[in-house]
Amino acid sequence: MFDSLSDRLGGVFDRLRGRGALTEADVRGAMREVRIALLEADVALPVARAFVDKVTEAAVGQNVLRSVTPGQQVVKIVNDALVEMLGSDSADLDIDVTPPAVVMMVGLQGSGKTTTTAKLSRLVKKRGKKVLMASLDVNRPAAQEQLAVLGTQAEVATLPIVQGQQPVDIARRALQSAKLQGFDVVMLDTAGRLHVDQALMDEMKAVADIAKPNEILLVVDSLTGQDAVNVATNFSQQVPLTGVVLTRMDGDARGGAALSMRAVTGKPIKFAGVGEKLDAIEPFHPSRVAGRILGMGDVVSLVERAAEAIQADDAEKMASRLAKGQFDMNDLRSQLAQMRRMGGLGALAGMIPGMKKAQAAMAASNMDDRILLRMDAMIGSMTVKERARPELLNAKRKIRVAKGSGTTVQDVNKLLKMHQEMATAMKRIKKMGGIKGLAAMLG
Ligand code: GDP
Repeated sequence: MFDSLSDRLGGVFDRLRGRGALTEADVRGAMREVRIALLEADVALPVARAFVDKVTEAAVGQNVLRSVTPGQQVVKIVNDALVEMLGSDSADLDIDVTPPAVVMMVGLQGSGKTTTTAKLSRLVKKRGKKVLMASLDVNRPAAQEQLAVLGTQAEVATLPIVQGQQPVDIARRALQSAKLQGFDVVMLDTAGRLHVDQALMDEMKAVADIAKPNEILLVVDSLTGQDAVNVATNFSQQVPLTGVVLTRMDGDARGGAALSMRAVTGKPIKFAGVGEKLDAIEPFHPSRVAGRILGMGDVVSLVERAAEAIQADDAEKMASRLAKGQFDMNDLRSQLAQMRRMGGLGALAGMIPGMKKAQAAMAASNMDDRILLRMDAMIGSMTVKERARPELLNAKRKIRVAKGSGTTVQDVNKLLKMHQEMATAMKRIKKMGGIKGLAAMLG
């Protein structure tokens, strides 16, 4: 997501930064390019126009042009405007109310509404709330069963299905059950349609009248570009939305729909769906997303993901080994596994500042996630002794490992070199006072 936009903007800014002094004409020229980049990324026209006007106005000010680093200043202005366009602060679910809180999910069929209902329910449950999900979709065959299946996977309760019951009655029953059984949150997955139509809107309004939701979240497929913007406009005119969830942010789209959502609906983007699995959902943080678009990386998300991926006892074990400056093949293997859990090389590279270019280089050299798996296979083909003492690997042993893992001796050598470099780095870290010292240095 956002890759081509990010590249285009990067080019514009590189040119700006390349000059010592900037004139108003330089800035206006750059902003024309920014505007084109936004439109190409599918940002809605009025949104792109307002954005560029705002940035231009702030950037042609004499303070900026006369400053020592005008290029940098313009980038900062663009960053701030991006953050504002995306919604300034990250917004959470408003469900800390007298229970049961009601969250109503709306959106078109296929937008990912049912999946998102289950993902959010799982998230809310992990925060210690008792959650009940109910599907009000009586149009699509098996929609209610789909939610029940997801409920089992997510270990979240679903309302028992009563054949033939209508949406409003299901909503009523869900609320009653929640009150009787002490649920904190009720998630209502409403019916979708292929297109926005009045019957759908009327049904949603009737349900909202009964359920009095604390949240009405619009689920939008970010891959649908301008269509997503139209859908959001339509829904926001008809129902009192409280927020938006953008799905398929893991996809390879231009991303402009995401950038338009806030301006079009006036409501915050609260979450982003980033995959099919039930844990593939992230709170939406405007400043981090802006950072990612401008190639400044998203270190905070990276660290958070790392914390999630690293099992606590793994981390402790690893820390105590590193404290002693030890780093063998088993350590390397668990590091590789963590990288895979964190979404692979691509996901990581996108989040590390300045890594966008390295990512491109990796892609060019075929350094992709298959390499992580190949490395794992090579380590898997080593004996216990070899893993603990890689220096044992002589030519004969290397051939055996290569054969066992379906790789070449060259590959094995590369792995050994990488291990060597990491082991040296670990020793250096130890000299600097261990992980704690490093953390202190990084602030
Ligand atoms: P609904 O008709 O709106 O309820 O849509 P579903 O929840 O049934 O989702 C439709 C398809 O999209 C399913 O195959 C989901 O696995 C998939 N999906 C949903 N959210 C995401 C997402 O964030 N990323 C990806 N890659 N797929 C998603």
